[in-house]
Amino acid sequence: AQTPVKVTVTGAAGQIGYALLFRIASGQLLGADVPVTLSLLEIPQAVKAAEGTAMELDDCAFPLLSGIEVTDDPNVAFNGANVALLVGARPRSKGMERGDLLQANGGIFGPQGKAINDNAADDIRVLVVGNPANTNALIAQQHAPDVPAERFTAMTRLDHNRALSQLAAKLQVPVTEIKKMTIWGNHSATQYPDLFHAEVGGKIAAELVDETWLRDTFIPTVAKRGAAIIEARGASSAASAANAAIDHVFDWVNGTAWTSAAIPSDGSYGVPEGLISSFPVASRDGKWEIIQGLEIDAFSRERIDATVRELEEERSAVRELGLI
Ligand code: NDP
Repeated sequence: AQTPVKVTVTGAAGQIGYALLFRIASGQLLGADVPVTLSLLEIPQAVKAAEGTAMELDDCAFPLLSGIEVTDDPNVAFNGANVALLVGARPRSKGMERGDLLQANGGIFGPQGKAINDNAADDIRVLVVGNPANTNALIAQQHAPDVPAERFTAMTRLDHNRALSQLAAKLQVPVTEIKKMTIWGNHSATQYPDLFHAEVGGKIAAELVDETWLRDTFIPTVAKRGAAIIEARGASSAASAANAAIDHVFDWVNGTAWTSAAIPSDGSYGVPEGLISSFPVASRDGKWEIIQGLEIDAFSRERIDATVRELEEERSAVRELGLI
C-alpha cells in the first residue's frame, strides 16, 4: 500500500480548519487515491477543541485517513510533514498597529519555519493562509534555510476564484469558460486582479467589459469580498478560504496550466527577487513556474507596482523588527 502523505494544519481548531480538515481527509487535497495522515497543531488552550474535531474526523470513517495526531508542539506537528497548511495566525484587532501585528505573527511563523526546517520531510510544501499571508510565508521561509525557498507559498487562490466568479456573473458565462485569470501581488486590499490577460471564449476579458466596471466595480469587489462576507454572514469566509487552500495544493501537486499563487519572485515582471508575491503561474512536476512573456500595459503596471510596493514595505518592516 502507498505510504500516507502527512499533512499538518495549524490553527486546526479555527473556522478555516473546520472547513478544511474533512476535505483533506476525504481525498480532495491530493487526490482520491492518496492516503493521508493529519497532524493538527494548536495553541495549548485550543488543543481540546482540536481533539473534538479529531473525534469527528474519526467518526467519518474516511477510507483514506490513516491517522490523526493533535499537538501543541510544532516539532511534533511538522515531524515528517509533506504538506503544511499554516492557517493559525494572529488576526489584526481594532486599533492594532502594523508593527504589533507583524511582531505577533513573527512569533508564530518564525518558530514554525524553524520547526519545518528541522523536522519536515524533504519534499515539504508549505502554504500560508493566515494573514498577512505573504509576509508570514516570508518569515517562515527565512527560518528554514535548509528547505528550498520555493517550497514556501502564500494563498491568493481565493482572490483568483472570486475574480472568476465576479467576471462569470458579469458576462453570464460559466466559470469554466474563463481562462488565464491572474491575481498579482499581495493578498490584501492592494491586490491586482488582471483582466488584460484573462480570456473568455478566446477573447480578452478586459475588452468584453467597460473600463469603468473593471476599475470601479470589479477590482474593488474582488479585493473587498472578505469584508462583504463578514458583513453578510456575521462570520468570515472560512469555507471559501478552505476551498481555495485545497485548490492551491491540489494544483501544485497535480499540475495546472494557469492559476494564481504567491511564490518567491525571481525578479520576473519587475517584482524584487525574494518577495513572496502573487503571479500567473503554472505547475509542472510538482513545481510552480511563473508564466513568462506577458505584456504589461500602463494600467496594470501602476497597480502591480502599488501592491508590490506594499510587499516591500512589509518586508522592510519585518527586517527592522529583526523577524527575518
Ligand atoms: P480562521 O480559521 O477564520 O482564520 C485563520 C487565519 O486565516 C486568519 O489569520 C485569517 O486572517 C486568515 N484568512 C485568510 N483568508 C481568509 C478568509 N478568506 N477568510 C477568513 N480568514 C482568512 O480563524 P479562527 O480565529 O477561527 O481560528 C484561528 C485558530 O488558529 C484558532 O484556533 C487559534 O487557536 C489558532 N492559532 C494557532 C496557532 C498555532 O498553531 N501555533 C497560532 C495562532 C493561532 P484575517 O483574520 O486577517 O482574515
